[in-house]
Amino acid sequence: MPDRPPTDCPMCGAALLASAKPTACAGCGFPYDAETRIWRASDTATGLGVRYAVVGGLVGVAVALVYPPPIRADRYATVPLLGALVAVALGLAVRRLAWGRIAGRFAAVTPSGLIFATRGRPARVPWENLEALEERRGVVRVRVRGRAATVPLADVFSNQLEQREFCAVVRAAAAAREAAARRAELGGTGPGTE
Ligand SMILES: [Zn+2]
Repeated sequence: MPDRPPTDCPMCGAALLASAKPTACAGCGFPYDAETRIWRASDTATGLGVRYAVVGGLVGVAVALVYPPPIRADRYATVPLLGALVAVALGLAVRRLAWGRIAGRFAAVTPSGLIFATRGRPARVPWENLEALEERRGVVRVRVRGRAATVPLADVFSNQLEQREFCAVVRAAAAAREAAARRAELGGTGPGTE
């Protein structure tokens, strides 16, 4: 579930004091207000490592069972153990290379735009640069104005419902911004009439 209002910074972990007006994290400048919503992946390196170890261990057990009985006796313990170790090392390495960050993946809808972290440093997409959200093979992707490639937000949401919720919140926020800009263009209203 997304945090709302956010209580701790997804970029640096500092506590975020509740604020109705747009403000920023004292530690790193992460912008937020009472409407800011943050979706965080629950994955950690330890949690993933345990999952890989279980799979590797089971494969090891299966392999050990295939051995002829005389060899099986002394290899029975080492093969599953080896399988688990190899699976953890290989699993985490491949995941890191293929998907980027292992822990701390998040996507946030903030007053200044989208901020998300899936690989390397967190990426900021100001509202004016956000062209669209697209969905391909169940993964939502961010299309940034003027850039050919879209950015996938993989392994951030814990299910499709959360992902759809994220898309709806982003589209509503973008539409509200556009409506406010149009009103300002018409010149009818001043600030504070939102
Ligand atoms: Zn921060």
